Amino acid sequence: MKTVLITGGSRGIGKCIAENLAKERYNVILNYNKSEKQAKQIQKELKEKGINIEIYKADVSKREQVKKMVNFSNNKFGNIDILINNAGIAKLEMFNDITDEEWNEMLNTNLNSVFYCTQEVLPGMIHNKNGCIINISSIWGLVGASCEVAYSVSKAGINGMTKALAKELGPSNIRVNSIAPGVIDTEMNNNIDNAIKEEIKNETPLGKIGRPIDIYRCVKWLIEDEFTTGQIISPNGGYVI
Ligand code: NAP
Repeated sequence: MKTVLITGGSRGIGKCIAENLAKERYNVILNYNKSEKQAKQIQKELKEKGINIEIYKADVSKREQVKKMVNFSNNKFGNIDILINNAGIAKLEMFNDITDEEWNEMLNTNLNSVFYCTQEVLPGMIHNKNGCIINISSIWGLVGASCEVAYSVSKAGINGMTKALAKELGPSNIRVNSIAPGVIDTEMNNNIDNAIKEEIKNETPLGKIGRPIDIYRCVKWLIEDEFTTGQIISPNGGYVI
């Protein structure tokens, strides 16, 4: 049985990926930070269906907490086969209003977490000469978003890391790819009002907002594929082409 560590699995896209991979009988370690109740609820509901999932609280913007989480996982299941760097935060704000603290929080949570998790998981993957790393980026890391400069920078950084690491790790049979979703219906977008959501739909060739399951399908394909690395795949309904 393959082992998956997914960060930010308590809600939204991460929750959907974690639940579906657990149903596919992967060993899943679902990381969460603040949403303990939600993480426990996911574990409980899966257990009622006879499916086990491990949950682990860690703030992935902190190296020490990531280290402990990966040790926990390695002790429980052996080396991690698949790492899904999904945890992230977003904030709408004019560039000139961003404080140093806000900038650092964004970069620590969205980008440095990918650095920490990947570095901690890699020795096991290199030892196995096998691994799959999937980073959840964003269309805004491709094209930039007004009033989301820090977020866009963090996601563009993930895309750069994905390409460079894919070159470095290919010889160790470790694939590294990014998924750069368009607008997906999760709590992250609760602050977007319905009129704007309608506008986004109208500007999207497929005429709809994405769902977490659309991203899960892409993850599943990337896990099973054996010849794709260093790619930024963007399920976005055609919003960005
Ligand atoms: P969401 O519903 O707000 O969920 C975010 C998840 O990240 C939560 O499980 C949260 O856990 C976790 N998280 C945040 N900070 C964390 C930290 N320091 N340590 C550990 N976990 C942390 O967001 P989502 O829409 O599912 O987004 C998931 C990923 O997709 C993010 O990277 C986001 O940037 C990306 N994305 C989303 C969209 C979209 O339109 N929704 C589009 C493109 C890309 P806790 O609540 O437990 O703290």
